[in-house]
Amino acid sequence: MTKEALRKYYSEKRLSLSASERNRFDDLILILFQQLEIAPHVQTVLSYWPLPERGEINSFLFTDFLEFRIPSLQIAYPVCDFTDHSMEAFLVNEESTFRRNRYGIAEPVDGQYISPTEIDLVLVPLLAFDAKGYRLGYGKGFYDRYLERCREDVIRIGFSYFEAEPAIPGVDQFDVPLNYCLTPDAIYEF
Ligand code: ADP
Ligand code: MG
Repeated sequence: MTKEALRKYYSEKRLSLSASERNRFDDLILILFQQLEIAPHVQTVLSYWPLPERGEINSFLFTDFLEFRIPSLQIAYPVCDFTDHSMEAFLVNEESTFRRNRYGIAEPVDGQYISPTEIDLVLVPLLAFDAKGYRLGYGKGFYDRYLERCREDVIRIGFSYFEAEPAIPGVDQFDVPLNYCLTPDAIYEF
């Protein structure tokens, strides 16, 4: 299958899950996330705002758990620039406001800019992933561009309701692989 065909296949497959299946899978993935030995230096996480209409995994479960484990944790969300498909991270707190951009993604309005080199952990959205940790995103390369600017030791974690593909087609020199991908059944470590 081509990248485009795989994107369509996995988008539809994810959206075909019922709300109760999704909740059950989210819980199973959270249980595995709680078993990960997150490095003690993790202080800053870049998360993403899950879009229900895309059937994205509820990332708040993971940031809530991380906040519980690491009381000093700082949480950032991306703000996208669609002119050059780049993004930047902004720190948020309980008072932060979010506004939906033209793609429906909620972005922080008044967050504090943080450099990519200060991010310790990235929760990376994806449609599919493969046995080497390469991911299939939404097709604009936002995360590949961002991760390239992060430290080499940044921890990249993806989540998927489905198991690994043997190989994502057309992986190029810009594709940054994950360190972990969690599914309802398994922790993949790459
Ligand atoms: P996604 O990761 O969203 O699934 P792709 O990996 O297919 O999307 O990337 C989309 C396009 O962006 C590709 O043409 C890819 O070569 C380009 N791209 C990704 N990262 C970079 C980068 N760091 N610099 C320049 N182009 C990039
Ligand atoms: Mg890519």
